[in-house]
Amino acid sequence: MRYELPALPYSYEELEPVISAEIMRLHHDIHHAGYVKGANTALEKLEKARKGEMQINTREVLRDLSFNVNGHVLHSIFWPNMKSREENNKPGSNIGDAIDKNFGSFEAFKKEFSAAAKSVEGSGWATLSKDKDGNLFVLGIEKHNLMHIAGYEPILVLDVWEHAYYLQYKNKRADYVEQWWSIVNWEDVDRRY
Ligand code: MN
Repeated sequence: MRYELPALPYSYEELEPVISAEIMRLHHDIHHAGYVKGANTALEKLEKARKGEMQINTREVLRDLSFNVNGHVLHSIFWPNMKSREENNKPGSNIGDAIDKNFGSFEAFKKEFSAAAKSVEGSGWATLSKDKDGNLFVLGIEKHNLMHIAGYEPILVLDVWEHAYYLQYKNKRADYVEQWWSIVNWEDVDRRY
């Protein structure tokens, strides 16, 4: 197995009341595990095709690979990007300065990132990503892999697939996005930056 499901860095209850234990359980154990399985399956198919043991629809398998590997990678960043709830949760040190420099202020960044998260069409993600020179960008990603820019590395990601919030917030994605700011683990984002 090339890809493995990482353990959550905290208990299922850790992010309550912002994200319920029930959502965390399903999201990590079922959804993320599904992407890991899908990524390994796509690799196995390519391996078999190489050996002449299997005929594959290349376009389909490569699409599955892109979708599932990105799903796995994004969720693997998403879990440690969060921690227990904190009032007035804000970035400190390096990443705080970099956000000010790139976006003008933390409030301006928060507004841009939240707008990206709320406006993703269908299922997707908002990310704060850096290029090789350390410049920061907000990206909106559809599904796990569309509209992503090659070479931009996500350092803070927010899952806005319905499976991430629907059990608790129903159709109110905006409320989920607003609450989520209180559980961002800025120390983890700073490390990635
Ligand atoms: Mn998800």
